[in-house]
Amino acid sequence: MSGGRDVHGCRNLVLVLGDQLTESGAAFDGFDRRRDIVWMAEADEESIHVPSHRARIALFLSAMRHFRDRLRGRGLAVHYTALDDEAQTLSGALEAAVHRLGPERLVVAEPGEWRVLEALRRTADRLDRPLEVRPDTRFLCSAEQFAAHAVGRKQLRMEYFYREMRRRTGMLMEGKKPAGGRWNFDAENRGAFGREGPGPLPAPVSFEPDKVTRGVIQDVRRRFPDNPGGFDRFDWPVNGEQARAALEDFITNRLPFFGRYQDAIWLGEPWLYHSRLSAAMNLGLLDPREAIAAAERAWGEGRAPIASAEGFIRQVLGWREYVRGIYWRFMPEYLERNALGAEAPLPACYWTGETEMACLADALKQTLAYGYAHHIQRLMVTGLFALLLGVAPREVHRWYLAIYVDAVEWVELPNTLGMSQYADGGVMASKPYVATGAYIRRMSNACRGCRFDPGDAAGPDACPYTTLYWDFLMRHEKRLAGNPRMGLQLRNLGRKDTAEGKAIRRRAARVRSTLTA
Ligand code: FAD
Repeated sequence: MSGGRDVHGCRNLVLVLGDQLTESGAAFDGFDRRRDIVWMAEADEESIHVPSHRARIALFLSAMRHFRDRLRGRGLAVHYTALDDEAQTLSGALEAAVHRLGPERLVVAEPGEWRVLEALRRTADRLDRPLEVRPDTRFLCSAEQFAAHAVGRKQLRMEYFYREMRRRTGMLMEGKKPAGGRWNFDAENRGAFGREGPGPLPAPVSFEPDKVTRGVIQDVRRRFPDNPGGFDRFDWPVNGEQARAALEDFITNRLPFFGRYQDAIWLGEPWLYHSRLSAAMNLGLLDPREAIAAAERAWGEGRAPIASAEGFIRQVLGWREYVRGIYWRFMPEYLERNALGAEAPLPACYWTGETEMACLADALKQTLAYGYAHHIQRLMVTGLFALLLGVAPREVHRWYLAIYVDAVEWVELPNTLGMSQYADGGVMASKPYVATGAYIRRMSNACRGCRFDPGDAAGPDACPYTTLYWDFLMRHEKRLAGNPRMGLQLRNLGRKDTAEGKAIRRRAARVRSTLTA
């Protein structure tokens, strides 16, 4: 299990979790090769506490094994528990290692999940070993800095946080002013492709699975035969070199159009101009500072327009850091929130992709095939449908945490529960992101071949998104009436007469019964 140097009398056992694969990570500060040992473990529990997509499991495990080999290659002692060894849980694996190696103390950087932090604390207590939890310096905003930002604010809107981050880091700034003259080019990030479609798209760089990855895929197939998802195109970066190559490929070939088409959807085109870098950043293979600097440089050298560079930097320096701040500020009670009292089950099609709705089928099938969907598919196709249907937020959260290769709870949960389901009652979003099928028609080609009509709310061909949108407004009218940002939508609802309202409710009940049949 161990490899690298011999260590006599272990001082620190340095715990490296599956999403902490960074050699410059805080847990390695002061690492003494003669006295310290790295601990890493593959635990079944992490793949089954939510039924993980098999590509997600494979990506984590492959990246971990590559990292282990790299550390050993550099002469560090690594105690590594692989899937086939005895332990089923992280705590069990840690306990066995502590008994065997007898470290004086345990060191870890802040985990990406509250549940894991608690489990480590409990285990350390049980083993009577001090656990030192160090701030995760891969992030640009610490939990303390976020807490300071939150002081005295009634609302924690991303935009103000983002501006503060720009000022504090100096990223995309010209002195005290935002580079390009504006803080935000959001209005230029909403282009659709039009009838003719996106045309030829630059294929993202692809990393052929090496021996380590092929071994992992075999293990995952054998060990998790019933987990969802396949390996249709398993070509994600699994180490730091590949992650940097993926960044370069994105900056050169897709960043120039990233800004304009950030919100667009096109059936059968999963990547469009997106970066596919979330998993590499979340696992620790790519430093977000490097990604931000590369985008800023591309703009400075005239290789990408400001709307693209700023749009990308806003996602990484703004949204990514902001959701982490929200997570640690509100956990663990955040997980229990259900502001709209939603209790419906998640429709079975989320696990099969089988539905007549063309947009939903495309997003789900792509998700099941690759473990990937871009932001607008997650927010305005799969997320919106669950919100309109009134699915219990906990179930929606479990699905998102299971099904995307980049899913780690600190980033997944606020996006799902807060931004997409409005279950936090407005901590993240100032109003529920609800829309009819007309939004999807405007942003994609999905409605062209679909049997449903986004313009119809109650007829036999009514688009379920449109039906459920009006039904949602009727169900939550009282609750949302005090929200000034819902004014227009509720005024439009007020124009519907009683008969129309009844017909919509009838149709909504039918949509529900078809989905749960
Ligand atoms: P790009 O579109 O190229 O964006 C660039 C980068 O910006 C991403 O790689 C990511 O690091 C960051 N980013 C963009 N949007 C967000 C956001 N809202 N929050 C945090 N970072 C962001 N992202 C995850 O990394 N893991 C998740 O589990 C996850 N779950 C989500 C669930 C829902 C319901 C929604 C609406 C969004 C979720 N996101 C999640 C955010 C976003 O959808 C993904 O980061 C993005 O689709 C990843 O693809 P990409 O790397 O091609 O991103």
